[in-house]
Amino acid sequence: KDFRNNVKPNWCPGCGDFSVQASIQRAAANVGLDPENLAVVSGIGCSGRISGYINSYGFHGIHGRSLPIAQGLKMANRDLTVIASGGDGDGFAIGLGHTIHAIRRNVDITYIVMDNQIYGLTKGQTSPRSSSGFKTKSTPQGSIEPALAPMEMALTAGATFVAQSFSSDLKELTALIEAGLNHKGFSLINVFSPCVTYNKINTYDWFKENLTKLADVEGYDPSNRGQAMNVLMEKEGLVTGLIYQNSEQPSYQELVAGYSDEPLNSHELKLDDETFGGLLKEFM
Ligand code: SF4
Repeated sequence: KDFRNNVKPNWCPGCGDFSVQASIQRAAANVGLDPENLAVVSGIGCSGRISGYINSYGFHGIHGRSLPIAQGLKMANRDLTVIASGGDGDGFAIGLGHTIHAIRRNVDITYIVMDNQIYGLTKGQTSPRSSSGFKTKSTPQGSIEPALAPMEMALTAGATFVAQSFSSDLKELTALIEAGLNHKGFSLINVFSPCVTYNKINTYDWFKENLTKLADVEGYDPSNRGQAMNVLMEKEGLVTGLIYQNSEQPSYQELVAGYSDEPLNSHELKLDDETFGGLLKEFM
């Protein structure tokens, strides 16, 4: 199945988000999805454009709100595979509350964050993922705040699938998105996706020098949450691969099934006078 469409992305040449787009398209095809069974929801930011660049249903939402929309979509139509996406500002600043609660709720969606450690769309301000000392127009003397640690945060919030990858590693990123799509529950995939225009510190070369692949860590066991936390702290979060997965915990969909077997999309839409007309009269 072809998940490419004919919309030409207007990201800057070299932006890490191109690889995320390609990886989603490959992963969706590899797990056997059909375009009409996939919905990609995004927030605001350069990364937010991604929902228009994939041959699937797309919903470009508002800032920090891709997760409420994605969760509602999944609950209303449980046959859909739902990917939520956005940048680090979208998911870890304005949308952080939604991120934490979506994680602990374990709704069966895949959340892909394009983490470039800066606000690119608004031309380069410090984000919650910028390192301390990071100089931008909004912190000309260097940021005095430490960066948020999203992977450690997700583990603490009870995440059942936590992974991290790098735009330069298409093979690993595609495999992790496939694993996230196959995971029955909420999967968080943070992608180091360099902003080549505004972030001159966290470049492709910088990541290549500083990242450790978990596949190269001897004895690493992604089912061990304690080990996951230890390795993240030891490597200051600069790892890629499957960090943690718990396949035993039931998803929100499975738990809610006992209360509501019929999602909205299985109900007959009645536009007769009795139901629709009655509703309208209430508002007149
Ligand atoms: Fe990508 Fe940065 Fe350009 Fe935005 S400003 S499209 S994040 S390179």
